[in-house]
Amino acid sequence: MDKSRQRGVLYIVVPCYNEEEALETSAGKLLDKLHELKKREIISDKSRIVFVDDGSRDRTWELIKGLYDGTEEIKGLRFAHNRGHQNAILAGMLYSRAYCDYTITIDADLQQDVNAMERFIDAYVNGSEVVYGVRNSRDTDGFFKKLSATLFYKTMRLMDCDIYENSADYRLMSVSALDALAEYSEVNLFLRGIIPDIGLKSSVVYFDVFPRMQGKSKYSLTKMLTLAADGITSFSIKPIRMVFAMGVLALLVGFGMIIHIIYEHYFGYTVGGWSSILMSIWILGGAILLSLGIIGEYVGRNYMETKRRPRYYFWEILSRDEGQSNHETGKQI
Ligand code: UDP
Ligand code: MG
Repeated sequence: MDKSRQRGVLYIVVPCYNEEEALETSAGKLLDKLHELKKREIISDKSRIVFVDDGSRDRTWELIKGLYDGTEEIKGLRFAHNRGHQNAILAGMLYSRAYCDYTITIDADLQQDVNAMERFIDAYVNGSEVVYGVRNSRDTDGFFKKLSATLFYKTMRLMDCDIYENSADYRLMSVSALDALAEYSEVNLFLRGIIPDIGLKSSVVYFDVFPRMQGKSKYSLTKMLTLAADGITSFSIKPIRMVFAMGVLALLVGFGMIIHIIYEHYFGYTVGGWSSILMSIWILGGAILLSLGIIGEYVGRNYMETKRRPRYYFWEILSRDEGQSNHETGKQI
């Protein structure tokens, strides 16, 4: 137990995208938790909740503003347009870095059990720089999500990524871990993969997942597929190697075919053969297209990375800290 780590300043970072239905209930629950932790002297009185509005098109930002006006412990950040869950979390964490000792990220629908926070903080006090939240079970997910998640984690492991299976973006990060994370400047962001790569002392907390109470899931199929592609391509060039290996294999089969063709030419019959030709055209054509696609993914991502565009840009900031006006605009980190 490290005394200097007790009663640290906690910033809870909450990404919100079109969460008008869930926001107020969730904010209430988070505030209750914050007050309880303060009262029990587990965290400092300076602890806050930061809502990051990821370019919502509904009333989310108005609700955040309302909460900010009525409660001292709430802050708000707003993107001008939708930049995705990962960027929202990153922005919230890097913003908080200047004010806190550690952050905990949690989804706005509070599907993750807020009561696990004490265990996250305990692990931090005992010396962990990163505390991963890992789901106890996936019972609340549908069949498709369960299957795709399992496949995804298996692929990631195959790609040499040190990811925890069923880890979520419910996670505690100390300021030192955030400083290290800030050094990773990739645009195609997959936090669950990058954070283990930092390599600081870490531990795991298991938590329960509840069904979403208000609103619908904001993770569309496209968003999920993009996240998976980011995860896979940002961690390994193995898929490109696999394409290469496939090419070599096809070539070997091709050589075999030459022998077979010559043999057939002299000793068999050469008419017919329609089916085998058609089959090779389709198989080879398919393999070539697939390979080009995989390489294209990398080239495309390379292009995005070399542009070095900012990952996010704050349109509005709601904060009572000195040096920041209530409605500071256009701040970039
Ligand atoms: N989210 C976001 N930007 C997006 C999509 C989602 O900030 O483009 C937020 C969303 O508001 C929620 C969290 O990410 O706080 C997780 O989303 P959701 O609960 O919809 O995903 P699921 O639990 O279905 O995987
Ligand atoms: Mg959810």
